[in-house]
Amino acid sequence: MDETVENREKERSPEDLFDRIKSMLPSEAGFIKAEFEGPDIIIYLKNAKALYENEGIVRSIATSIKKKLVIRSEVSVLMPKAKAEEMIRSIVPPDAVINSVKFVEEFSEVYIEALKPGLVIGKGGSTLKAIAMGTNWTPKVLRMPTMESATLSRVRQLMFNEADFRKKFLVGVGKHINRTIAKSEWLKATALGGYREVGRSSLLLETPHTKIILDCGLSPEPAVKGMEANAGSDVNKAFPYLDSANLSINELDAVVLTHAHMDHIGFVPYLFKFGYEGPVYCTPPTRDLAALLLNDYIKLSQRAGGTPLYGEKDIRKMLTHMIVRDYGEVTNITDELKLTYHNAGHILGSATVHLHVGEGMYNIVHTGDLKYGFTRLYDPAVTKYPRIDSLFIESTYGGHGDVTKNRGDAERDMMETIKATVQRGGKVIIPLFAVGRAQELQMVLENYMMNKPEYKLDVPVYLDGMILEASAMHTAYPEYLKESLRNRILNNRSPFESEIFEIIKGEREEIFEKGPSVILASGGMMNGGASVEYFKRLADDARNTIVFVGFNSSNSLGRRIQNGVKEVPLPDENGKLHSVPVNLQVRTVEGFSGHSDRHQLVQFVENLRPRPKSIYTMHGEEQKCEDLARALGRAIHADARAPMNLDSIRLK
Ligand SMILES: [Zn+2]
Repeated sequence: MDETVENREKERSPEDLFDRIKSMLPSEAGFIKAEFEGPDIIIYLKNAKALYENEGIVRSIATSIKKKLVIRSEVSVLMPKAKAEEMIRSIVPPDAVINSVKFVEEFSEVYIEALKPGLVIGKGGSTLKAIAMGTNWTPKVLRMPTMESATLSRVRQLMFNEADFRKKFLVGVGKHINRTIAKSEWLKATALGGYREVGRSSLLLETPHTKIILDCGLSPEPAVKGMEANAGSDVNKAFPYLDSANLSINELDAVVLTHAHMDHIGFVPYLFKFGYEGPVYCTPPTRDLAALLLNDYIKLSQRAGGTPLYGEKDIRKMLTHMIVRDYGEVTNITDELKLTYHNAGHILGSATVHLHVGEGMYNIVHTGDLKYGFTRLYDPAVTKYPRIDSLFIESTYGGHGDVTKNRGDAERDMMETIKATVQRGGKVIIPLFAVGRAQELQMVLENYMMNKPEYKLDVPVYLDGMILEASAMHTAYPEYLKESLRNRILNNRSPFESEIFEIIKGEREEIFEKGPSVILASGGMMNGGASVEYFKRLADDARNTIVFVGFNSSNSLGRRIQNGVKEVPLPDENGKLHSVPVNLQVRTVEGFSGHSDRHQLVQFVENLRPRPKSIYTMHGEEQKCEDLARALGRAIHADARAPMNLDSIRLK
């Protein structure tokens, strides 16, 4: 062992670190013990009140040791639960509408689920502080969605039920993160999927001591069995090349996710099925949306008579191994890697990933999917980072011709299309990704149909598939939304609950019998989902219109319809194929995408501060990745490339 390593170890052994913390605490706090719990350090005290009254101490210790500190009361001093609940209900004003109070002894925490969390928190945190001071439990606030979401309740319940496991798991992860390792000499990235293609996104990052995976998705086409005839897909291209990286699953230190779309998360439960037991990092909405989308994938596969790659059990296992972080929280995910999420503007909870490797050795920004432009839901992606050496950037619309129209024009175009269809007695199907585009469209329709006299069409707008659940999740995380929308939700004027929307739960027959309507149906690329069911019934009537607003991958059914196919084979309930004539109007309205167009991608890079020295394009068809790399290289005089799957790049 060389001298530097020895010094580092001396300085950084957990015992020394905990001793240092203890020495900085006032003696009346009654230090009991400290331990690692995931990326955080937990300090158990006999008298946590001493610190609640002087919060500056905790902040200064955290700054000095460069880690997040969590203060908890030792179990013996926690107020008995019934009494504590009584006190909480008397301290919190009734307008907060408390739904439930749950105690988790493993973490000395009490979870208060309320309709108005702001009132549980109080001005400057005063109500929370009163609860902590009065009961010794650490209060945590959960927002009740204004619309019911079964998935959200299930995920929250799972976390409570598994608290005992979670505690052990997090302590184990904490020890692993904080093991002291020698300084790394190199850093390597290997493209495992989603390079020069859209789908199965995955990147492996390696140092001599650390291996992490950034995203781990499925390709969209073959993901739903039974639809292969239309997808023209190759099952061999469905998964990331994990096997080729000579990677044993338990060597992985962490999986880091950017957002909840299937092409970024769809393969993660499979890792658990095959024995992965490490942490998965993501934002809180990504965890909950992942639960929704992964379970839906299982249902879709089964309905199509296929065998899903994994079961609900594997999804639950994944959920209990997730560690959630909000935007801006700097998190040590290994001894030499710090992760920070920032808003990516793409879907609820979507994030760009900033990774700081070693002590100042290297910095990576990975965009995941990115929107750098106006949407009604989210602020544009963040462009300011502490440092950037390499940028990995998506290229979905990175081709030089991929310039989408102005958003105002797109909205009017959409409304005119709907109006014309309604006037000739037809129905409009809009196939959508349930998460993201659906909510964007809901906001547009609500705005025009409620506020603009020329578009008060007086027809129902049906919501089918997972859209409702996904919209409900948006109401549980208003802090992830744009300010104007956040305020509407907080003031109980959520656009997702507008009177223009009618919810379809299973029974579709009525819609076909009734007159004109607008149908927002999940199944964006039409490789399965509600949109396909509507299409089957409405495709042969020339009065109807199908409007595409999102990305259709090159082999998708959506793309084939866009390209003007006159007949498509589609499976019935028994999986038997029938030919469906396509007579309805086919329209594509661009400008609603959750992805940046070419201009926005270039602008994003030009506005990045600081500017990266190297750029790698990903998540786009081959030509778009190459084209965008050339343009970005020229724009900021950086070394820009479009790696292929299986390429390894030495970054440092
Ligand atoms: Zn996405």
